Amino acid sequence: SADVVPQAPEDPLFGLMAAYRRDTDPNKVDLGIGAYRDDDAKPWVLPVVKLADEKLHSDPNLNHEYLPIAGLADFTSASQKLILGGDSPAIKEKRVTSLQTISGTGAVHLGALFLSKFYRPNTHRTAYFSDPTWPNHFQIFGNVNLPTATYPYFSKQTKGLDFDAMIGSLESAPEGSIIVLHACAHNPTGVDPTQDQWKKIAQVIRSKKHFPFFDTAYQGFASGDLARDGWAIRYFVEQGFELCIAQSYAKNFGLYGERAGCFHFVTSPSSEAESTIARVASQLAILQRSEISNPPAYGARIASLVLNDPELFAEWERNLQTMSGRIMDMRRALRAKLEELGTPGTWNHITDQIGMFSFTGLTEAQVMKLRNDSHVYMTKNGRISMAGLNTKNVEYFAKAVDKAVRE
Ligand code: PMP
Repeated sequence: SADVVPQAPEDPLFGLMAAYRRDTDPNKVDLGIGAYRDDDAKPWVLPVVKLADEKLHSDPNLNHEYLPIAGLADFTSASQKLILGGDSPAIKEKRVTSLQTISGTGAVHLGALFLSKFYRPNTHRTAYFSDPTWPNHFQIFGNVNLPTATYPYFSKQTKGLDFDAMIGSLESAPEGSIIVLHACAHNPTGVDPTQDQWKKIAQVIRSKKHFPFFDTAYQGFASGDLARDGWAIRYFVEQGFELCIAQSYAKNFGLYGERAGCFHFVTSPSSEAESTIARVASQLAILQRSEISNPPAYGARIASLVLNDPELFAEWERNLQTMSGRIMDMRRALRAKLEELGTPGTWNHITDQIGMFSFTGLTEAQVMKLRNDSHVYMTKNGRISMAGLNTKNVEYFAKAVDKAVRE
């Protein structure tokens, strides 16, 4: 009977959001949310999404039929080009298969499920995540019974990448391990490897015959430049790796609740590649069918309209620059205010880090002080969502940090 079911712990982010909502202070600041906010702290519907929505709804043939098992073909093929580059040899050589998924989470899940069935059965095959990582990685891989472990990533001292420790750990991991990598705008730290560091990471992964699994949830949202944010994945594909990609359109299209995403499996160049990919595709279709039958249509239709229309695509790039630009402005403003106040410590990491999140280095005690004294809400690990800062509250936040650090 269900009496044996133990109480699960509350999701930490969910508890934080509930506490924020209960707070009645007019100055309260929400830095927990993992969603973009405009300068008025409001959700932002991208202008290009509004245009695509109008176009979609003026189509007299629009209906609510099921999509195919692998999703909307115009969407998945445009998604391949977006992440791999339009002239990618992997696409030309038919070495890629792609399925539309329930956003990035569903793509990570489909990849993990596929690997749990077909990757090195009966041998060592632990999935390694950066320490720290998006906590859902542990749950998703754990749910399909793949063992999980971590490699060092964040240096508390420099608040940047602990590159030597990361490389050492990848070198000592058992051969053939699954290495999960954030393609850009690492969540939760905002710390990404440089291009030279990515090259070294690729070398170690090659020499240890590890299997790279890229999670890309922030392409275009990080730097505002789609090619730059896709660089690491494109480099690995160029180097001939066989790999998985989990792609989310939640942040870069602001389509959070519409669950638009894509899973890609890329195989290495060889005369067998096309037949390998056909077999992989056939198995992925069966897994997808048993899990969700077929993916949801609306978000993929919106993204597909934009990705396949040069004018809408150009507008999307402008919208991406608006979001990433505002976030970079807030990074600069926060760092400048803290340095102006002479807040103890160094604050260059605020502008060195990239994307939605920043790992401030604030301790749990300081985080709690900020919550209790200043009504500022962030996760206990000191992560702040840069999107929660705006021209109206950044000074208030800097002063609150200054006070918490000095006490
Ligand atoms: N991976 C990472 C690293 C993320 O930060 C996110 C978004 N929080 C996701 C995957 C997936 O999010 P979604 O399912 O909303 O696309």
